[in-house]
Amino acid sequence: MKKVVKFGGSSLASAEQFRKVAEIIRADEERKFVVPSAPGKRFSGDSKVTDMLYECYALAEADQDFEPKLEQICDRYREIIEGLGLDLSLEDEFEQIRKNFRDKAGSNYAASRGEYLNGIIMAGYLGFAFVDAAQVIFFDEKGEFDADKTNRVMSRRLAEYETAVVPGFYGSLPDGSVKTFSRGGSDITGSIVAKAVQADVYENWTDVSGFLIADPRIIKNPESIETITYRELRELAYMGATVLHEDAIFPVRQQGIPINIRNTNAPQDNGTWIVGSTCQKSRYVITGIAGKKGFCSVNIEKDMMNSEIGFGRKVLQAFEENGISFEHMPSGIDTLTVFVHQDEFMPKEQKVVAGIHRLANPDTIEIESDLALIAVVGRGMKSTRGTAGRIFSALAHNNVNVKMIDQGSSELNIIIGVTNNDFETAIKAIYDIFVVSQL
Ligand code: ASP
Repeated sequence: MKKVVKFGGSSLASAEQFRKVAEIIRADEERKFVVPSAPGKRFSGDSKVTDMLYECYALAEADQDFEPKLEQICDRYREIIEGLGLDLSLEDEFEQIRKNFRDKAGSNYAASRGEYLNGIIMAGYLGFAFVDAAQVIFFDEKGEFDADKTNRVMSRRLAEYETAVVPGFYGSLPDGSVKTFSRGGSDITGSIVAKAVQADVYENWTDVSGFLIADPRIIKNPESIETITYRELRELAYMGATVLHEDAIFPVRQQGIPINIRNTNAPQDNGTWIVGSTCQKSRYVITGIAGKKGFCSVNIEKDMMNSEIGFGRKVLQAFEENGISFEHMPSGIDTLTVFVHQDEFMPKEQKVVAGIHRLANPDTIEIESDLALIAVVGRGMKSTRGTAGRIFSALAHNNVNVKMIDQGSSELNIIIGVTNNDFETAIKAIYDIFVVSQL
């Protein structure tokens, strides 16, 4: 068995956290490949090193004095090295970074140094090999991730080592310069490494014990999800539930490698398993609930719409011409409603309305703002009768007016539209009926 373990920024924010991480790695000799993030926040109000690097580099680029800020960053690493009692100096590295900032090496390079330096410390502390991600992760001329080349080079290179540390978040462009993934991208690196070494498990260590069924800001101490499929995860992530970078799923999914989300501060917890498919039933009919506020609905009415071929296309063309993507489009016989993001839609509202009139010639167009969408997701819904009925009676009992219902053909989720004001009440009502009442 071979495991790839990725540790997030809060797991590596201080020497104390580094110790916990090393203990976790040493507790299981199958944990052979380690992907660290940059040091995160040590306490609320603290700064993440990656943010500090972006700020510091912005000063360098504007020809302002960046040295004091860079010193603060270097101090974060000095503190960790000292706290671990390591016989290691990064002073030459710091000097090189200072020089490259002066030479304006780019903000991607700057941001990547957070993981790079943390990787060197981690490798030194564990006695593992250090493999610079710039030598094994590649992007093409257009800046797109080059999965084939990466897998080829990385798998060959990592085969040389029994154990190794590969820093997260970045790789290199064809000209050798550093390029980062989008924020939170160390999750992607972990997934790429897991694929390259054909790991049996990709463990992603963070500061929560897995995915929660609902947002803890809305539901107090929600239950966590034991097992979730990639598809369910995607539905929830799209609706705002975040623990893992979205793009981290693809490399391991192709290989059928499961992801196990774990908590560095509670390693005894099993966390959440993310898998391709499973015959494991979730504890409840639903796997998770997620939602977002800030939508508008554009309700278009036209008599005999149902028999007018091309009506939907014309309506959507008005959105397309204004560069607006739509979220959902439930329709009736003579009505069609298009859900869009309010902040994207507002500035172009009148242009879109004029466009719909011109292209589709409807009877009326009504716009409603300040709406929220809630996704109730669960592979168990397919085989359970009455799920929708339970959702709607729970909402009715809590005086929530349902504005829209959209059930995907996969029967994996039901999307409900409510007003922003009803958002929290609706989520609580759904959580209560499926989870609390089953406890
Ligand atoms: N350090 C990077 C960030 O803060 C990448 C990561 O942590 O995954 O976005």
